[in-house]
Amino acid sequence: MAQLKEIGYGKFYLITSELLLADNWKEIISASRDNYVNTNGRIIVEKGQALLIELFACGIRQVVLTANITPSHSLLNFTPKKIVEAAAQEVRSFNKGNAGKRFSLMLSIIVTSENFNKIGEMCGYAKDVCGANVAKFLALIPFSNSDTKLSPSPAQLSKAISQLKAMRKKYPAAEFYIERGGTLGTAGLRDEKKSKFCPAGERMFTIKTLENGGPVSPCIYTPSISIGRIENGKPLIDRALYRKFMELKKSALLADRCPAYALANKLL
Ligand code: SF4
Repeated sequence: MAQLKEIGYGKFYLITSELLLADNWKEIISASRDNYVNTNGRIIVEKGQALLIELFACGIRQVVLTANITPSHSLLNFTPKKIVEAAAQEVRSFNKGNAGKRFSLMLSIIVTSENFNKIGEMCGYAKDVCGANVAKFLALIPFSNSDTKLSPSPAQLSKAISQLKAMRKKYPAAEFYIERGGTLGTAGLRDEKKSKFCPAGERMFTIKTLENGGPVSPCIYTPSISIGRIENGKPLIDRALYRKFMELKKSALLADRCPAYALANKLL
């Protein structure tokens, strides 16, 4: 991160679900200046309030739990629901017992072909059972054969989006905010929002390593697309590959799709 900062990159998204398993997680969080952690909740249940106190002291203000909402996720091999609920309970206890200190609690919920029609039920669970302030919905992108059937179809995504809109009317945003992740697509967004919808390759680049020859892709969800490579510790963009991706991105957005979703589902 220090190397990338030197050449002008300003904001880092750490793409890992269990950062807190790293021995040096505090160092990583302070270098990235991230203010949220994403976890399946196990480590919070295991370490309890002591961990939450350390997280708050490090500048973390949002805990994101990748939520398993049975029966709506019965086909995904997720952490058992009781762990998600126990972790949410720990966060609520912290908020209650530490005047003036407070985590926002987000449930990150994967939309699949199994649960696309249960958005209302899942919002109710996130808010009423887990006490979340935010629910973020993301579409499952098929990276393996077993995901293919589970990834929601474009028609299913449209239904999910209509239900998300209805839920936004039902719950006041200050009390329970419903967020729509990029992978759900641009359907129903205003034109000026559509143009800013996908930062991949413009405001965002993804790297896994600074080793020479390492790939640069536009988005973590487009690992097969290369728009450049690492040379002497710097991500260098290949103009021809970049233009090719930008054309592909334009057609995906025009078709109301997230480029990664469109690619993975062979819609382009
Ligand atoms: S490709 Fe999709 S998931 Fe990636 S940044 Fe663009 S909209 Fe978001």
